[in-house]
Amino acid sequence: MKIIKVTNVEQFAAKILPKQAQNNKTIVESILKDVGKNGDAAIRKYEKKFSKANISSLRLTQNEIKNAYSKISKTELDALRLAKARLGKTESSIKSLFKNKTINQDGIKISKKFIPIQSVGCYIPGGLARYPSSVIMSVVPAKIAGVKRIVVVSPPNSAGKIDPLTVVSADICGANEIYKTGGVQSIAALSFGTKSIRKVDKIVGPGGAYVTTAKSMISDQTGIDMLAGPTELGIIADSSANPKFVALDLISQAEHSNDTFCYLITTSEKIAKSVNKIVSELIPKIQRGKIVQSSLKNNGFIGICKTNSDMIKLANILAPEHLQIMAKNSESISSQITSSGLVLIGNDTPSSASDYILGSNHILPTNGFGKIRGSLSVLDFIKVNTQITSSKKSLSKISKHLEVLTKAEGLSNHFEAVRGRIN
Ligand code: NAD
Repeated sequence: MKIIKVTNVEQFAAKILPKQAQNNKTIVESILKDVGKNGDAAIRKYEKKFSKANISSLRLTQNEIKNAYSKISKTELDALRLAKARLGKTESSIKSLFKNKTINQDGIKISKKFIPIQSVGCYIPGGLARYPSSVIMSVVPAKIAGVKRIVVVSPPNSAGKIDPLTVVSADICGANEIYKTGGVQSIAALSFGTKSIRKVDKIVGPGGAYVTTAKSMISDQTGIDMLAGPTELGIIADSSANPKFVALDLISQAEHSNDTFCYLITTSEKIAKSVNKIVSELIPKIQRGKIVQSSLKNNGFIGICKTNSDMIKLANILAPEHLQIMAKNSESISSQITSSGLVLIGNDTPSSASDYILGSNHILPTNGFGKIRGSLSVLDFIKVNTQITSSKKSLSKISKHLEVLTKAEGLSNHFEAVRGRIN
């Protein structure tokens, strides 16, 4: 990884952000259009092209789902159940914060109701790795929110099958439909609808560069959660940190794909050098070493800052999806972080564990969007609905002011609709 001394935080941040992923808008747009026009036939064509799979029936049958259970071990099933239960506890406690409320002003009743979205599509990546954990992270909050129709899509393997752990994960979490398609074609199907896959109201879940572009391109007609693209990990570590932990954590997130953005921000030159050394020594010995190496070499960096406040400033500008803090005063540093998707505090809170079973959600904003939102949660599946009941008496009471405002805006017919009632 490159080691760089950070003298001016803003200038450094502007330069260090990874170059925009290859311009894939043209290809994404052409797949979206093709599926919009040719439906299931186009989905099959792209699955043949990208997954090398011949798919006859896109939807998994009950038999296929049942079969998947026979292909996984009891320990795998137990681990999925534990992850589901832990996230479920957190999501239920968030939901319990939101209670329907009626506000009464001058006899006008305004009811705020928390209503689940009716149908959602959960995208489960399947390119370079399998993500049964992402099923839990999207289906569990959707179910707890009360979504009636939860659809899971994921790329099949070359034999035309979705890996059994992903299928079982979807089933135990309560998905209603599972389809063997991924990539842009699945986003198109969920957004426009085809003969086999009915349209959904909202699409959620992480994905690689193509899926993320597709989600952003259909967002003018179907709701999306966020752009949750290639993984990002920032680590703030001072001289007290354990360099081996830092190295292991950087590697753990860089193994997702070639285009992750994983980096260390430190005030210690000694930590910088030893982390770099440990990473280089480990890469030839680990699984997925090639992916880790290209990811850390292309995008990764170690930035040496002069002060703690420079480290905090840099992390807040970069707004990493995950931010780990391993420093003497981790708690005080974390209290000044305003922009990361998920903050993991202390030596024993690795982001790799939060990806599975700490009880938090691993679907997180990337590309700086941690500045405006946090992880996926039950709130992404609930909308606040407003219902009002007024009366002649209440309208009369406020009519004088209504007349003034409608007149000021030049919309006199707005007031006539009120006058017609109170006279
Ligand atoms: P993916 O399922 O997003 O992408 C694979 C699919 O992309 C293929 O099945 C194919 O349909 C399509 N595709 C591949 N090459 C294409 C091409 N040339 N043109 C058009 N379509 C093409 O899986 P992935 O690529 O492994 O990406 C998963 C990503 O999700 C990783 O980068 C990982 O870091 C990220 N992730 C992010 C979060 C988060 O919360 N931000 C969580 C988990 C995973």
